[in-house]
Amino acid sequence: MKSDYVATIGLEVHVQLKTRTKMFCGCAVEYGSEPNIHVCPVCLGLPGSLPVMNLQALKLTALTGLILKCDLAPICKFDRKNYFYPDMPKNYQISQYDAPLCHKGEVPLHDMAYPKDAQKNIRNPNKRVRLVRIHLEEDVAKSFHFGTATGIDFNRAGTPLMEIVSEPDIESPEEAFAYLASLKQALIYADVSDADMEKGQLRCDCNVSVRKQEEVVFGTKIELKNLNSISGVRRALAYEIDRQIEILDRGGTLQQETRRWDDDLGKTSLMRTKEFAHDYRYFPDPDLLPVKSEVFMNEVRALFPELPWEKRERFVRHYGLSEYDAGVLADDLQLAGYFEAAAEGASKPKAIANYILNDLLSALGAANKTIAACPIPAKQLRELVSLVDHGKISSKQAKDVFAEMFATGKPPGLVVEERGLRQESDTGMIEPLCVEVIAANPKSVQDYKAGKTAAINFLKGQVMKLSKGKANPNLVGEILVRLLS
Ligand code: ADP
Ligand code: ZN
Ligand code: MG
Repeated sequence: MKSDYVATIGLEVHVQLKTRTKMFCGCAVEYGSEPNIHVCPVCLGLPGSLPVMNLQALKLTALTGLILKCDLAPICKFDRKNYFYPDMPKNYQISQYDAPLCHKGEVPLHDMAYPKDAQKNIRNPNKRVRLVRIHLEEDVAKSFHFGTATGIDFNRAGTPLMEIVSEPDIESPEEAFAYLASLKQALIYADVSDADMEKGQLRCDCNVSVRKQEEVVFGTKIELKNLNSISGVRRALAYEIDRQIEILDRGGTLQQETRRWDDDLGKTSLMRTKEFAHDYRYFPDPDLLPVKSEVFMNEVRALFPELPWEKRERFVRHYGLSEYDAGVLADDLQLAGYFEAAAEGASKPKAIANYILNDLLSALGAANKTIAACPIPAKQLRELVSLVDHGKISSKQAKDVFAEMFATGKPPGLVVEERGLRQESDTGMIEPLCVEVIAANPKSVQDYKAGKTAAINFLKGQVMKLSKGKANPNLVGEILVRLLS
């Protein structure tokens, strides 16, 4: 970005809530089913049908509001937003207009939420992006285009959708990335949504404008759509900011418009201009009564989860992990859960964390697997670390055992047995080998006694060879020192 310009970004995020049923009917919320099987007169908008509110959706929205420090409205209501589109059977969408469930609030941007390559260069550390509101609405159906025909799948029609609108507080593509990563993490921690952008569970429209540094009034806002990943949002904003600056620099002007991001081309293109604002003719839905949030807030408060930064702090305090390691583990709720399951009752939780952060994460990465599909159960990782800790196998042997556990899912005890790997930690077995090596290597013994302490490594290596690599190297060292003193 040219330095005499500043960018202003505000995000509108739609989130699919994890409810069993749709927003105003009892149809199942299930994605990936055969088309048009989760439908009924209510979500198909048939005349005479009446909506019934989904309490769970209200609770999950209120919980999101609590976590993001919003003001919860004592009373909220639902309105009809009228427009015509084939994917919307009623010709209006039930949404919340002037009385949403949550007002204000904020999303904190933690260092680790930024893209990796930008974490060392954060312009506004510990920034908080303010929210305007969070409201609840229903999703529309999904259109599929085949050649000249279009098919519509109504399974998604009427499923609960939460919209989170930010203030235009975001100043760079990297901050937008951090905002989405942080928001997504909060939603997952609260178990409100799986928030996977690639699956459309979290959808983001970006509003972006640029202006000269000295300008006080915001520039013309352009809306970006069709963003399918958090990194895509970053790329799209970077492209769009440059595009807008270039036009202004040439003396051109911008108009309010909606543009589509093409991730393959790395470009935005015009979708529609916003010359005439749409009149949605909002009015309160006469079939739905206003909602008093006090009725369910006690239950919502009980759902309040441990937040990511609280978990991080607890990992440092309780398990003695470094801030950084605790941060990486807590960054992913499932990874944090795996760590805690593995560390339960372990004498060296730090060693377990090391195994997860180094060996396990790289093995998962190489196999293109997530922690949820990890072939090694947490308990077995603990057993592996304990085998090393008790000197049953060397840490070098443990690497091989680990690789086989990862490849086959076998427990560590079995792998050790099958490979005959058990490390020899019996002094009675090792000492005679040491005596033999000392007798056979008078030169090294002499060197050692003359003060060349490194000479002991040669003797140690000889003992390891004699034991076919099975002797516990620490024990071999101890015995040699004792015999030579
Ligand atoms: P609209 O009425 O077009 O939906 P809103 O005022 O509701 O516009 O704002 C929608 C989103 O756009 C919000 O997230 C807001 O923060 C953001 N926004 C508003 N004005 C600007 C601007 N000039 N530049 C960038 N983002 C903006
Ligand atoms: Zn239905
Ligand atoms: Mg708006």
